[in-house]
Amino acid sequence: MHKVYLGLGGNLGNKHNNFEKVLHIIEKVLGNITKASSIYESPPWGFESENNFWNQVLEIETELTPFELLSSTQEIEKQFGRKKSGFKYESREMDIDILYYDDIFMESETLTIPHPKMELRKFVLVPLNEIAPDFKHPLLRFTSFQMLENCKDTSIIFKLDNTNRYQ
Ligand code: AMP
Repeated sequence: MHKVYLGLGGNLGNKHNNFEKVLHIIEKVLGNITKASSIYESPPWGFESENNFWNQVLEIETELTPFELLSSTQEIEKQFGRKKSGFKYESREMDIDILYYDDIFMESETLTIPHPKMELRKFVLVPLNEIAPDFKHPLLRFTSFQMLENCKDTSIIFKLDNTNRYQ
């Protein structure tokens, strides 16, 4: 059994429904969810309000290999569809990033673990720090808490309450 951290993000469609639905699909397809952070919202800078992002980090147990996991997460993303305008694909309703897979480091054309640049993004570090403050980045050797303290990202992240409203 492998311990994996997933970063979820979405800014389109009914986020409340999407974030509820994705947890059920993840449990069915990937494995048990052992921890789930609160959902956080990053208000847009210079975007329409309907494009606010919701983010959440999950800890799961899975028997899938890293590449099996990637292909399954991509299948799940597809189930949430893509909005297409002309020839341009817009943001997805659900993006699933593999942040950590045990404490492995791997780099390939299609999959890099830990997720590249995760240490620069407050929308990843804030929810990650909520559920795994002491987990050490296998390359940087910093904990989530230390990465958050050192992070230069100045975006303001709002934690939603249990009903997913602003606290
Ligand atoms: P995005 O547009 O952020 O969803 O990027 C998706 C692409 O990132 C996919 O084509 C994946 O092959 C690639 N990718 C590389 N590393 C990862 C990772 N750790 N988790 C998810 N996608 C990854």
